[in-house]
Amino acid sequence: MALQFFNTLSRRKDDFVPLDPAGKKIGLYTCGPTVYNYAHIGNLRAFMFEDLLRRYLEYKGYAVTHVMNITDVEDKIIRTVRETGKPLREITDFYTQEFFRDLATLNIQRAHVIPRATETIPGMIALIAELIAKQHAYVGDDGSVYFSIKSFPAYGQLGHLDMENLQPGARVQHDEYAKESVADFALWKAWVETDGPVKWDSPWGPGRPGWHIECSVMSMAHLGPSFDIHCGGEDLVFPHHEDEIAQSEAATGKQFVKYWLHNAHLLVEGKKMSKSAGNFFTLRDLLAKGWTGREIRYLLLSGHYREQLNFTMDGLAGARSALQRIDEFLLKMQEAAGLGQPALPTAPVGRGGLTAPFLVAIETALDDDLNISGALGSIFEFIRDANKRTIPADAAACILATWRQIDKVLGFGIPAKSDVPAEVMALVDERQAARKAKNFKRSDEIRDQLKSQDWVIEDTPTGPRAKRL
Ligand SMILES: [Zn+2]
Repeated sequence: MALQFFNTLSRRKDDFVPLDPAGKKIGLYTCGPTVYNYAHIGNLRAFMFEDLLRRYLEYKGYAVTHVMNITDVEDKIIRTVRETGKPLREITDFYTQEFFRDLATLNIQRAHVIPRATETIPGMIALIAELIAKQHAYVGDDGSVYFSIKSFPAYGQLGHLDMENLQPGARVQHDEYAKESVADFALWKAWVETDGPVKWDSPWGPGRPGWHIECSVMSMAHLGPSFDIHCGGEDLVFPHHEDEIAQSEAATGKQFVKYWLHNAHLLVEGKKMSKSAGNFFTLRDLLAKGWTGREIRYLLLSGHYREQLNFTMDGLAGARSALQRIDEFLLKMQEAAGLGQPALPTAPVGRGGLTAPFLVAIETALDDDLNISGALGSIFEFIRDANKRTIPADAAACILATWRQIDKVLGFGIPAKSDVPAEVMALVDERQAARKAKNFKRSDEIRDQLKSQDWVIEDTPTGPRAKRL
C-alpha cells in the first residue's frame, strides 16, 4: 500500500505524491507557538504529531525541509507587554527558549528553518501590497488593511464552509473569530494606543501584521508558492488556515498547499483542559510530578493523531510500564548479542530475515495515515513472541539493528546498561562478590538497600542485572 494521509482539503485519505518531480524533496510547514507563555500539553501534542510525521517521511527516504514559525507578535503577546511592562522581545525570547527546551525534553526534532514573525515584516508588507494591487485587499476606514473575502470565490474550501448560506459579517480585527461570522480579516492592523510600543512602519501607517499573513509569508519564503504539507491543530483549520490559503492563492494564483493534516484535541482526565478545572498542565508541571519527557512523549505519541487523546495520569503510568517492557527486551537482546552497549548504527537489516514481517507490519500501519497504535501493537506482539524463545546472538543483533531503524521514527531512545546509576552498579558488584564469598547476610543487606532505592536484582545466566522497580 502506498503512503496515505487524511487530507483536510479533500476530506479523504489521499495517496502521498510529492510535488517534486523526482519524488524526493518535501516541503513541510507547521504552525509554531505563540510565545507569550509556556506551551501546554495540548500544544505539545500537535508538535509531537508533526515530529512523528517528519520522522516517518525521513524514514521513508524523503528529503524533508521543515519550516516552523515563531509567532512573536499577536494580540495575546501585546496584552502581556501591556500587563507586564516588559519589552516584547524580552517576553518572546524567554518563552521561545522555554519552548525549545520543551522540544528537547520530548525529543522532538527542531525544524530546519525557524523564522520569527517580527523578522519577516518586510515580506508581509510586500505580500499585502500585492494583494491590494490585485484588488484582494483594501484599506479600511480605521486605517487597517483587510482581505476581501468576496474577491476570492474559493474561500471556505478547507473548512468546507457553506458560503452560500453564510452571511459575510463585518470586518474583524481579532486574530481569532467564530465560524458563524465569516468576515474580511485584517492583514495589517493600524496602531492603536493599547499597542503601546509595539509597532512597525508601513505604507499604511504604523501598525503590525495580522496573525494569518505571518504564516503565508514565512512558509512561501522558504518553501516556494506551492509546497507539499501544512500541519496544525484542528482548531487552526478555520479561520487561520482558511485565511492563509486565501491570502497566498489570491496573490500567486497557484495552489498553496497540496496536503493539509490536522491533529485532534487533547482532553485531560476526560475533560477539556482549563486552569479552573485544575487539569491544565505544562511540561514542567508534569516533570515536577516525577514523569519523564520520554514517558510523556510515549503517551502523546501513542494515540492516532486524528483521534481525541485522553491524557491521564493512569495513561502516563501505562506509558512508563510500556517503555519498561521495551527497555527490558532491548537489554535482553543486548546481552544475547553479547553487547554491553548498543552497537554502532548499521545499515538496515532484517528485511530478508526474521524481522522482515515485523518491519512490514509497522510500515503498513504507519503508511495508513500514521496509524501509530497499529505500529505499537505490532511491536508488543513481536516482543511477546520473542520473549517466549531463546534468541541466538546473531538474531539478537539483527533485532537490535532493526530496532535502531524503528527508533528513528519513535524517538524513544535505546537503553544502555549505563542507564543504571554507578552507585547502583557498585552495589550490584559488591553483592555479587558477597555471594561468591558465601556471605549471604551481606548480599541480603545489599538487596534490601537496593530495594529501598527502587531497584531489584535479577540473576540471569549472564550475571546479575539491576532493574528499576
Ligand atoms: Zn500558522
